[in-house]
Amino acid sequence: MTHPKDHLLSWLRDAHAAEEQAITMLSNLSRRIENYPELKARIEQHITETRRQSERVRECLQRHGSDASTLKDTGTKLMGLGQALSGIFTSDEVMKGILASYTFEHMEIASYKMLAAAARRLGDPETARVCEEILQEELAMAKWLEDRLEQLTDKFLDLTAEGSATAKH
Ligand code: MG
Ligand code: FE
Repeated sequence: MTHPKDHLLSWLRDAHAAEEQAITMLSNLSRRIENYPELKARIEQHITETRRQSERVRECLQRHGSDASTLKDTGTKLMGLGQALSGIFTSDEVMKGILASYTFEHMEIASYKMLAAAARRLGDPETARVCEEILQEELAMAKWLEDRLEQLTDKFLDLTAEGSATAKH
């Protein structure tokens, strides 16, 4: 029988794997951006936050005598790499990257809300607190992107119209 706590631990391992995937994905994205300095800076900031998030989720697992699954992390890291690379050969790779990041943040938002609720219910207030704090960083990143979708699209189309070869990143 699967116990409620098994789900909490399994979701924490998923969250940890997602953070590791995010580090790969965001690093590859940021490295290629040249003409969108504000976007690049915000992504760099979120990479720093993401490294810490991964660490904090790992600590939650360790408090339960569990650990992050290295196998899962390696698999998802490769997936993240594939995803990050999938947009590179398009003429709108920066827009594809923004779309992927915005989608990813929302997956994280749902995941940390579920984790916080489960941790609270299962009598692990420390994990609930950690997940709620991480949630705030994911919400802030999603909002930053959302607030700039129009502006970034304009800039991309301006650069494209100028015939700039670097519009794409
Ligand atoms: Mg995250
Ligand atoms: Fe995030």
